[in-house]
Amino acid sequence: MMVGAISFLYLLLSPVSPVFAFRLTRTANFARPTALASTVARSDEFSVDNPMKVLIAGAGVGGLSLGCALKKQPGVEVTVLEKTSEFKRFGGPIQLASNALQILKEMDSDIYGQVQAKFTNTGDKTNGIKDGVRDEWYAKFDLGTPAIDRGMPYTGVIDRPDLQEILLEKLQGNVRNGAGVESYERHDGGVKVKMDDGTIVDGDVLIGADGIWSNVRASMRDEPARGDGSGVAYSGYTVFAGELAYDNPTNGEVGYAVYIGPGQYFVITDIGKGNYQWYAFLAREPGSAASEEKPDGNVKYLSDIFEGWSPDVHSILKATQEHEIEQRDLYDRPPSVVKPWIDGPVALLGDSVHAMMPNLGQGGCQAIEDAMVLGEELANVKHRDNIQGALDAYRSRRLVRSAAVQGLSRFASDIIIRGFDTPFKYVDGQFQNFNYAGVVTRMLQPILPIFFSVQFNFLYDGYKNKYGLDLKNGLGLLAIGSVLLIVAAGSVGEVGILGSMGLEGIVGTEGFDAIFASLSDLF
Ligand SMILES: Cc1cc2nc3c(=O)[nH]c(=O)nc-3n(C[C@H](O)[C@H](O)[C@H](O)COP(=O)(O)OP(=O)(O)OC[C@H]3O[C@@H](n4cnc5c(N)ncnc54)[C@H](O)[C@@H]3O)c2cc1C
Repeated sequence: MMVGAISFLYLLLSPVSPVFAFRLTRTANFARPTALASTVARSDEFSVDNPMKVLIAGAGVGGLSLGCALKKQPGVEVTVLEKTSEFKRFGGPIQLASNALQILKEMDSDIYGQVQAKFTNTGDKTNGIKDGVRDEWYAKFDLGTPAIDRGMPYTGVIDRPDLQEILLEKLQGNVRNGAGVESYERHDGGVKVKMDDGTIVDGDVLIGADGIWSNVRASMRDEPARGDGSGVAYSGYTVFAGELAYDNPTNGEVGYAVYIGPGQYFVITDIGKGNYQWYAFLAREPGSAASEEKPDGNVKYLSDIFEGWSPDVHSILKATQEHEIEQRDLYDRPPSVVKPWIDGPVALLGDSVHAMMPNLGQGGCQAIEDAMVLGEELANVKHRDNIQGALDAYRSRRLVRSAAVQGLSRFASDIIIRGFDTPFKYVDGQFQNFNYAGVVTRMLQPILPIFFSVQFNFLYDGYKNKYGLDLKNGLGLLAIGSVLLIVAAGSVGEVGILGSMGLEGIVGTEGFDAIFASLSDLF
């Protein structure tokens, strides 16, 4: 679903945080799961007295959200297996867009209330794309109205450790630290999970929410968790991120500002309480942090790279201390229909199956959508024979939407870095940046508000994941996205348009496969 094309606009909004291995200070209590070397015969009928034992590998956003959804279900016993030995409080903010917030609101009003208490709205502020060189607004987008129209909460940000703490609070007694999942084996009565300390944990269901380098996925697909053959691909981009207390001249009126220009871009996001986060996205070979020398530090390095750009960029860079900056290479992976999401009573969730670029701020939100759908499907399971059907239904409901958002996220990075330029302008009798990319960037300017609107319809209307394929909004995205794609692709050359813009994932193999798989589910 090339839908994605449109999204690049939204990309701007993405606040995101560079560190998501957030962990909290306390060690969660663990009610030890059944840890047996042999399978104990149990009835296949699940009930309060004989609960369905659901094991979740990974206490990230997705695993914890699913744990909270399932803990409320009578007849389900949930255990989260987390490889890190304790939760430490670190990690920056994460954007929760209206679609994910609405899910938390419907799932648990207490969790939602606690999230709101720590939340900073960005959806009610000015957000948009700025001409990074001339320092003038290029396109603004209205994040507030689409949320208000649907009665949904505003998009905003929360510190990852705060979010994790809130979710963990609900899961006291259900999370086990220092419990790395190595692999699993299916058997007639469920699944045996092999832990990295050699012990075995028995469950009826196993959910692999163990992130982009998932061992559950590796075990399911008989492939390595990392490197060649793992399906995880380097995006071509590295991101520098800074987080700091900052006296922003915009006085808190701007939520996200994305500064565009040739070959790179910069984002500044309000993360609340006088703190700001910025990102510098650069196209680089993997491992550039080690291979590229920065003798005078990251601030000087980035200041040189962004020379001639908006004073906003330089002002926040100058205010940032070296220890407030992190660099990381960005990896993603398209959701797959060729390779399984499900293997008997085992399913994948979140980054383990559809890790995406951070540009739309949707990776965690999509993991929350997975959790909601999986929670709904597993809540209906009363007998072991129903498990496979529930997991299949989960995959059918999530496949195309997650593929579309993953593709949109990748496309957003590609088009903004490689397709966009400083827009062409006629000033004082002179043409400025009168080249193909500059003219295209200017031509796209009036179309962007339409893109934004269609994209928000897609993201917000579909949060319930009722259907595998949201034809109405999906086709809108496809139509407008095609225009954008064709026009912008000229900026990066005519050959291999899709490949050059990183679109293989959505309009190449897996994306189309996902659509066809969903269509075949319909008929
Ligand atoms: C720079 C950047 C910014 C981002 N910003 C945003 C944003 O603003 N909004 C947003 O929605 N998304 C954002 N994302 C994406 C988001 O962080 C991820 O999509 C999200 O964290 C995925 O959640 P998850 O639960 O699937 O995996 P993770 O959050 O990665 O959690 C996986 C968990 O599993 C544990 N684990 C790993 N292996 C094992 C094992 N073998 N056994 C047991 N446990 C294991 C890990 O320790 C971890 O706790 C961003 C990503 C990046 C790179």
